[in-house]
Amino acid sequence: MTTEQLNNVVNVIEGEAECWSCSAALAVSEHFCSTCGKVQPVRPMTHFEFFGLRKKLNLNEKQLQKEFYALSRKLHPDVYARATANEQEWSLQKTSQLNDAYRTLKDPVARTQYLLSLEGIQLEEQSKSATDAARQSGEEKKQAVPPELLEEVFELNMQLQELKMGERDPETIAQLESAKKSFEQKLDESSFELRKYWDAWDGAKDQESEKKAMDQMVALLNRRSYIRNLLRDVNSALSEAA
Ligand SMILES: [Zn+2]
Repeated sequence: MTTEQLNNVVNVIEGEAECWSCSAALAVSEHFCSTCGKVQPVRPMTHFEFFGLRKKLNLNEKQLQKEFYALSRKLHPDVYARATANEQEWSLQKTSQLNDAYRTLKDPVARTQYLLSLEGIQLEEQSKSATDAARQSGEEKKQAVPPELLEEVFELNMQLQELKMGERDPETIAQLESAKKSFEQKLDESSFELRKYWDAWDGAKDQESEKKAMDQMVALLNRRSYIRNLLRDVNSALSEAA
């Protein structure tokens, strides 16, 4: 197939969706022709669209996994050993789309972040490289302390400071161990809380409710990422003190 022919095929798919091989009518999101079974050209789509899902946060994870395995098998390079160069290329590109989509959607936090990014929201977490750069240059991190953690963070910083001063006070170490447990518990609890906001987003009847749910998810994910950083600090202090 020449490039020009290929472009025509892609245009048809984006418009009325027609199989490049047998011209049967197709839904644009179909990866294979339901008539001749041939793999279809790749087109840009969201991870949700790739799996034929609506843009909702609650999803059937077992079903998603089943579809992932089924598509992996159908797109496997062995299947295309004797196919045309285009089909080989499309199946490889679709495999890569599939892996990205599955990795993102199967993880509750990654799925939430992805949906928020589709809605145009960039989280602090996503500027992780900036945080790491600040860390390396010894700058204070710019991340704001979530208000409900202020007291604990204050205490924690004092305990970390004490350890840094070279004191191996068993009481300080015990306090850090207990801070670690408390942060781990907060992370667990935040997972349950996140699901509440999923329900609010999925069931939102108007933009205002959607916006409210998104704001709550953003605050929660930022808090989670803050707690994860604290945990990392506590763990490294504890392993140095050991
Ligand atoms: Zn066909």
